[in-house]
Amino acid sequence: MLVSNETVLLDALLNRSSLADEIGHHLDRLGQSYLLVGPPGSGKLQAMKAMAKAVLCPDRGCGTCGVCRGVEQEIHPDCSIIQRSGAYLSVDEARIAVSLASRSPAVASKRVIILPEAHLFERAAPALLKSIEEATSTTLFLLSAESLPESLAPLISRCVRIDVPPPTSEQIVNFLLGMGFERERADRSDALASGRLDRAWLLAKSDEALSALELWSTTLDRLVKDPVSLAILAGELENTLPRSPKTKRRPHKRTDPGLSNSDGVASRPLGRSEELAIVREERRQRADLLRAGLEQILQRIVFCGAHEGWPAGATRSATEAVLRASSALRRNANEAVLIRALIFELAGLELSPVVPE
Ligand SMILES: [Zn+2]
Repeated sequence: MLVSNETVLLDALLNRSSLADEIGHHLDRLGQSYLLVGPPGSGKLQAMKAMAKAVLCPDRGCGTCGVCRGVEQEIHPDCSIIQRSGAYLSVDEARIAVSLASRSPAVASKRVIILPEAHLFERAAPALLKSIEEATSTTLFLLSAESLPESLAPLISRCVRIDVPPPTSEQIVNFLLGMGFERERADRSDALASGRLDRAWLLAKSDEALSALELWSTTLDRLVKDPVSLAILAGELENTLPRSPKTKRRPHKRTDPGLSNSDGVASRPLGRSEELAIVREERRQRADLLRAGLEQILQRIVFCGAHEGWPAGATRSATEAVLRASSALRRNANEAVLIRALIFELAGLELSPVVPE
């Protein structure tokens, strides 16, 4: 069973006691590898961290001790989270997991290897398969996936599957309240989270992200015919994105997933491949915020088309414009150009209620 705070956290987090029960049941008779399957933002990473805490913490996941905090902050030497730095997990990144799995734990009785986004493993999947098949009893693999592509079948067959359903709005608010946020903050974050727990959590924590998405959500109300005002609006939206990789100062510090000294954190100048990894991570953050912003606009268009009497033709054109911007984003288009083009295109449409004659 999961105990104390971690149960409270999982319950509040997911408010799905059946899921907490299911995870608790697995923890009692721990296997070697698990695969958590659920939609984006359903709390899979939090659930995997909760499992890691329950396994590594002497109090089975109290949520407050050094071990639990180490897992939460991703610096515990026996809990490694292997994240992709590009569009897919690379074979080299998979090899880090393989190498970790071949070693005994540093301080705990088990080594936990967390591999999110298994649906983006592609060529890395075969590299991991043998490791997962041959994992010793001191290694625990925790994987998660949003979907289960055919190529993943061999991996899936080696893992115990746990389904993680998407949270409701009420569950998201309860989670944020449980994490100590004020009601007003929890409601505002939930309203902009599009049903995603990870986004709600980010919005609750970050004033910057919250005001950014609030600005994006009001974009359609600020469309005017005056090009100067439109250019200003596009500039404001662009400014909400995390600063571009070129201008941002880089931290000369990194965390090393379990390959380092006893405290699990190594400080030293960054190598070229790490610089590149940081640049890619920053690009990803910009793209993620822009995608979330476009979702806000799209939701508003759909709502106004259905409830505010917007003409069907203009609603459809506006929807298409946003979807086109989204796919340009996937092709790494320049964000400033993309935002500006979208704003001017939307402003050119007749996006207002049809007034009866
Ligand atoms: Zn603990």
